[in-house]
Amino acid sequence: MSLKQPAAFTLMDAMDTDPPSSPDGPKRKRSFDQKVFVNRSLTLENIKCYGFDMDYTLAIYKSPDYESLGFEMIRDRIVSIGYPHELLRYTYDPSFPTRGLVIDTMYGNLLKVDSNGNILVCSHGFRFLKGENIHNYYPNKFIQRDNTDRFYILNTLFNLSETYLYACLVDFFTRCTRYTNLLTGYQLGDLFMSYRSMFQDVRDAMDFIHDIGILKERTIKNLEKYIVKDANLPVLLTRIKDMAKVFLATNSDYSYTEAIMTYLLERKSGGPKRSWRSYFDLIVVDTRKPLFFGEGTVLRQVDTDTGKLRVGTYTGDLQHGTVYSGGSSDIVCDLLDVKGKNILYVGDHIFGDILKSKKRQGWKTFLVVPELTKELHVWEEKKSLFEELKCLDSFLAEHYKHPDSSKRDNNPDINAIQSRMKVLTYRMDISYGQMGSLLRSGSRQTLFASQLMRYADLYSSTCINLLHYPPNYLFTAPPVLMPHEAASSNSADFASSELTTVTNHTVLK
Ligand SMILES: [Mg+2]
Repeated sequence: MSLKQPAAFTLMDAMDTDPPSSPDGPKRKRSFDQKVFVNRSLTLENIKCYGFDMDYTLAIYKSPDYESLGFEMIRDRIVSIGYPHELLRYTYDPSFPTRGLVIDTMYGNLLKVDSNGNILVCSHGFRFLKGENIHNYYPNKFIQRDNTDRFYILNTLFNLSETYLYACLVDFFTRCTRYTNLLTGYQLGDLFMSYRSMFQDVRDAMDFIHDIGILKERTIKNLEKYIVKDANLPVLLTRIKDMAKVFLATNSDYSYTEAIMTYLLERKSGGPKRSWRSYFDLIVVDTRKPLFFGEGTVLRQVDTDTGKLRVGTYTGDLQHGTVYSGGSSDIVCDLLDVKGKNILYVGDHIFGDILKSKKRQGWKTFLVVPELTKELHVWEEKKSLFEELKCLDSFLAEHYKHPDSSKRDNNPDINAIQSRMKVLTYRMDISYGQMGSLLRSGSRQTLFASQLMRYADLYSSTCINLLHYPPNYLFTAPPVLMPHEAASSNSADFASSELTTVTNHTVLK
C-alpha cells in the first residue's frame, strides 16, 4: 500500500470526515449518507486484506420488494401446511418490523430490548402493550435473553419477512373468534396451538423456501427488481485489489453467488469483458458462518463449469480464480498468507459476520447497516425531540441530585415530566416505523446498537462509502471518557456525568 496520498485528497477532505461526535459543523460538505463512522480507530495502512460477505453487503436487496416476495412465499407455505386461508389476506407492511427484534416464543410477543435485556417496546401481534400489560408478562420488564431456547433474535434483514408473518399469525388468531386465547397459545376444540409451535412453523417455512430455492430462483429471474446495482462497486473492488488482497466469503451456494456477482460486476456490453471472479484473490461459498469463524467445515473446490463440488479435501496452494466451498477463517488466513489483525472484514450480520470474526479471530470489522440512511434522515429531522428528552432527563437528574428532594417545597410534577418523556419517546420511535428505530428507543439504545458499538470498528450504510476515503486513511474514533474520568475533568463535567448516571438508572424504568 502506498504511503503517498492521492493528489485529489486534501486536508479539507480530512476535515470533512469528522467523527460523528461533531456532525453539526457549519462547513459540513459531505452527506452523512456517504460517511463511514468509527467506533475504534483504525488505519487502512495496516489493512493487508479485505474480506466481503455477499448478501446485504455487496448485494443490497431492494426494500420492500424483496421482503414482500419472501413474505408471500412463507405465508403461502404456512397456508399450504394447514394454517387458515384467511391468512392470505395479509400483505407485507414495511412500516412494522425492525431488525434486531426478539421473539418470545412462550408468549408470542415481539420485543425490542436493550443490551441488558430490559424491554423497550413490546407488541402482541400488531397490538403494542403498555405499562401493566407488559408487567403481566414480564414482572421486571426484563428478559433473560441468553435463554436461546425461548428467545429468538431476528438478527438479519432476511428475518424481516418472518418477523412480520409471525406478527400476522398472532394478530389473526387473537382476533379470530373460533380460537380461544390462552397464555401460551390458542385452543380450537381439542386442539392446542402454542406460540412456540407457530414460531417453529414460520422458521420451517423460511427454511423450506430457502432449501427448495424458490426465493433465489425468483430473485435471479428479476435481478433489477430485487437487487441494487451500483456502478461504484467494481470501482471500489478494483481500487482495493490494487493495494491489498481481497476475498469473498458467503453462505450462499456457488450458482446463486455466480448469478448475483455477475449481475453486480460484469457489464452486459461495451468494453472488454472482465469476469467477476477476477476482482477477488479468493472466493469461498457455502461458508456456514458463524461456524466458519470457528472450527469451520471441510474445504472443497468448486467446479465452476458444473457448479458441483470436487470430491475430497483441498490441500493445495491458492490458485487464482478458483472457487472454494466451506473451509474456515483460519484456512483463508493460510491460503492468503495474512494475519487476522491485518484483515478488514465487511459484513451485515452483527452476529455471524461481525461479532464472531472480532471475538474469535481478532479481525478488524466493518458493519454494513443499510437502514442507516433512513435512521440518519429521521435523526436529523427529529433531533429537536431528542434535545427536549435530554433536557427533561437533566431536569429530573438535577431534582434527584438533592438527597432531600422529596421534602422540598415546589416539587416539580414528576409524573407529568415522565409522561411527557414517554410521549417524546413514542413520537421519536414512530418516526422510524411502528417498531421504532433499529438503534434506540427514546434516549435508550437497543441491543443491536450496543453490539454495533462493541464489535464493529467501522460502520456505514454501504461499503461503497469506503471510496470516499483515501487508501491509507486513519479512521479516528472520538474519545469517550468513563464517568469517573469525566467527573475529574472539571466541575461542569462532574455534574453532567452524575446526571447521566442518575438518568440511566432511574428514569423510565
Ligand atoms: Mg449477509
